[in-house]
Amino acid sequence: MRREKKMTSLPPLREVIARHGLSASKALGQNFLFDEQLLDRIAAIPGSLEGRDVLEIGPGPGGLTRALLRAGANVTGIEMDRRCLPALAEVEAAYPGKLKVIEGDALKISPKSLFAGPYHIVANLPYNVGTALFTGWLSGETWPPQWASLTLMFQEEVARRIVAEPDTSAYGRLAVLAQWRSRSKLAMKVHRSAFTPPPKIMSAIVHVVPGAAPPGVSMRVLERVTEAAFGQRRKMLRQSLKGVPGALAALEALGIDPQRRAETLTVAEFVSVARVLTPAI
Ligand code: SAM
Repeated sequence: MRREKKMTSLPPLREVIARHGLSASKALGQNFLFDEQLLDRIAAIPGSLEGRDVLEIGPGPGGLTRALLRAGANVTGIEMDRRCLPALAEVEAAYPGKLKVIEGDALKISPKSLFAGPYHIVANLPYNVGTALFTGWLSGETWPPQWASLTLMFQEEVARRIVAEPDTSAYGRLAVLAQWRSRSKLAMKVHRSAFTPPPKIMSAIVHVVPGAAPPGVSMRVLERVTEAAFGQRRKMLRQSLKGVPGALAALEALGIDPQRRAETLTVAEFVSVARVLTPAI
């Protein structure tokens, strides 16, 4: 009830944008969301956030930030556009002690330095750095990671690559990375008209929860194998994996036909190859 009251004390987002002159910057991947119902649905994807720590990349004028605060989260936002800081200061004032905004580039700030315990990452990501941030969060050798879940808006095409299954054109390195020790699912499609300004393409939200890491597999080795295999995805594995020491012997030992192509291998098969190679390279 108290939160509802606080919320109504904040002006509508369109007014905030106009008052602070926040014309959307293409270079910063700014496509804002204003629809509170939609934003509340996004904030609900990770499950209850009451009292939880949340990292939001790119809070912008604060639409998603407000929804996360309405859900009871303690939000830390990293925002690169200093024009947004006064608008976010107003949100901070309406939710004392619940929002911390850091001005900076999310690619250069380690979330580990911001939280003592587990935290959720929720973001309407700037498309130009979304994949780089995502692969960074998924690539740590230490597993499970400190983040408890990722709820991220991507261009729909990227979201489909993240959750892709073998034998599809969307299946590749991103799918293996997002699935070998995490559960990744498409949580919601978001129509381009929901954004201001509307991007040319549709968007979708991916929800990722860390799972158990298969034992004896190095992330670095798995990366090397998938990079080689999908680097020449139309070639047979006996050709594309030629440059990876021991890979062809590993295929033979595992009974994987070297005439197959990368996109036919399941995530579990990639993991098996990487496991055989992990002590070697
Ligand atoms: N969260 C707001 C919303 O949903 O309406 C804005 C989302 S907008 C798609 C992306 C936001 O990320 C913008 O506010 C932009 O300034 C910010 N941004 C872009 N690149 C960034 C970076 N490298 N680090 C932190 N924030 C960044």
